[in-house]
Amino acid sequence: MKKIVLTGIKPTGRLTLGNYIGVLKNLKNFQDEFEPYIFVADLHALTLPIEPEELNTNTKDIVAFYLASGLDMNKSHIFLQSMVSAHAELNAIMMNYLYMGELSRMTQFKQKSHLMNESAIGLGLFSYPVLMACDIILYDADIVPVGEDQVQHVELTRDLVRRFNSRYKTDILKEPKAVVNTTGKRIMSLSDPTKKMSKSDPKGDIYLKDDEKTIRKKIMSAVTDSGCEVKFDKENKPGISNLLTIYSALKNITVEEAEQEFKGCNYGTFKKAVADAVVNELIPFQQKYNEIINSNLVDEALNLGAEKAKVIANKKLQQVQRIIGLYETKK
Ligand code: ATP
Ligand code: MG
Repeated sequence: MKKIVLTGIKPTGRLTLGNYIGVLKNLKNFQDEFEPYIFVADLHALTLPIEPEELNTNTKDIVAFYLASGLDMNKSHIFLQSMVSAHAELNAIMMNYLYMGELSRMTQFKQKSHLMNESAIGLGLFSYPVLMACDIILYDADIVPVGEDQVQHVELTRDLVRRFNSRYKTDILKEPKAVVNTTGKRIMSLSDPTKKMSKSDPKGDIYLKDDEKTIRKKIMSAVTDSGCEVKFDKENKPGISNLLTIYSALKNITVEEAEQEFKGCNYGTFKKAVADAVVNELIPFQQKYNEIINSNLVDEALNLGAEKAKVIANKKLQQVQRIIGLYETKK
């Protein structure tokens, strides 16, 4: 049996080059070896305030981007978290097996709640890792590819699985493993290269839908340093290091090979090459996206994916309900 890989993106904003290099670009490579469950975490997007139209557009866009990145709807099960009610149902159960103390130690909660007025922090932001654990548990996921920011939540899921299995002397829940993108695949903001490029923090982003002129302008004006050497040095040259990461990821070469290529070049020449690489990657990708968004492929993929996801998720939910003693009527 193929191993299960599960991953999701929150529709909190327009997708960035960070999301592309960190996740989308390599997603299709899982399809042959693994059975992928790929979803849009739309319920998670509600943990911070968002306008309905924005949520709606972002969600549809992510599915179109998944398909444009080469996912085949017959091999990868693509769906929305909200289409499979077992996520919310299992959440209502599992919130009793994770503790307030554990949840309050989560870095993401600390960081995101910090940005908000304390009296208006939704309960969902606090309990986010419970729902994320349910997303993973429902499909017996073996592998969860995540950015470093999400490793803590996968660890918490493992704790939950062990706690639950031991409490009910069972092995119905599977312990997932977080797989972090290989080092160097964390794309930083172009305006502040010490901060992660993040879709909910739009300064310094390249958006997947930016036109060629905008992409070039953003890269040519990326913050660098007063030196002149194209060298990877995160500490002293965070801007140049970030551009080297972007270039090498898109060209499928190592950072050292990229450094070699630009030995003796000035920053202007280097930035132009980075801009060319991004444009050459994103423009064809946008063409595919446009074809998809103007067809009915998004709905087709979602209906097909959700149908499969529901069967698997409901089965797991039922196993959990039984083992904890919820009463079941005879048909
Ligand atoms: P948000 O600001 O809402 O958290 P985000 O841009 O961090 O948005 P997520 O939905 O949290 O996006 O994450 C989607 C996926 O993209 C995750 O696997 C995450 O690790 C990855 N990712 C996000 N930002 C980057 C980045 N700058 N570089 C590489 N991968 C990233
Ligand atoms: Mg994030």
